[in-house]
Amino acid sequence: MTEHTHAGRLIVLSGPTAVGKGTVEAKLRADHPEVWVSVSATTRAARPGEVNGVNYWFLSEEEFLRKEVAGEFLETAVVHGMAYYGTPLKPVVEHLAAGIPTILEIDLQGARRVRQRASELDLEVVYVFIAPPSFEELKRRLIGRGTETSEQQARRLETAKVELAAESEFDVTIVNDTVERAADELWSVIAEEYGLQS
Ligand code: 5GP
Repeated sequence: MTEHTHAGRLIVLSGPTAVGKGTVEAKLRADHPEVWVSVSATTRAARPGEVNGVNYWFLSEEEFLRKEVAGEFLETAVVHGMAYYGTPLKPVVEHLAAGIPTILEIDLQGARRVRQRASELDLEVVYVFIAPPSFEELKRRLIGRGTETSEQQARRLETAKVELAAESEFDVTIVNDTVERAADELWSVIAEEYGLQS
């Protein structure tokens, strides 16, 4: 049996804003190129250095909504009240069918949408919550940039409190104390799920 014939469950990685889930996912990918991380579609503008089809599929709002209506997304969400984000369904199904460790890195609304649709789509899922070491640390990370007014900061902290409470909806919690340790723990979860060498 080759490494990738074991069909494991879809790994959904989520957590509060500013918890660093993108950084953990990037480290995992650098250490373990055999994993596949879904490339989301978004209507936000590309940031400098971002490449279409690599970081995201950058779509106009019209294209995004057309695809949504056509049923091409596993889940969609409006993130930070500004842009649409969505996970293209077909590549997820194809990678899972090929036995490749398949990961979504999405916000909490998206994770809830996946949960609502999983049985209809016959998807088996492991929900992984990336948590900050403490609320104080999340506060430090949220405020650290110093670009927001104290009112905006207070609002973001309120949101963070609500988001932290979502942990109970998840199967596994990984604390992002250091990126290296968190990525290693995530790999252990994936390796066990897909029957790979840890
Ligand atoms: P950014 O615009 O900074 O790359 O991402 C903003 C947020 O959108 C992050 O919390 C990220 O997890 C989330 N996100 C990225 N892609 C998707 C997606 O396909 N679906 C959902 N629901 N959230 C996503």
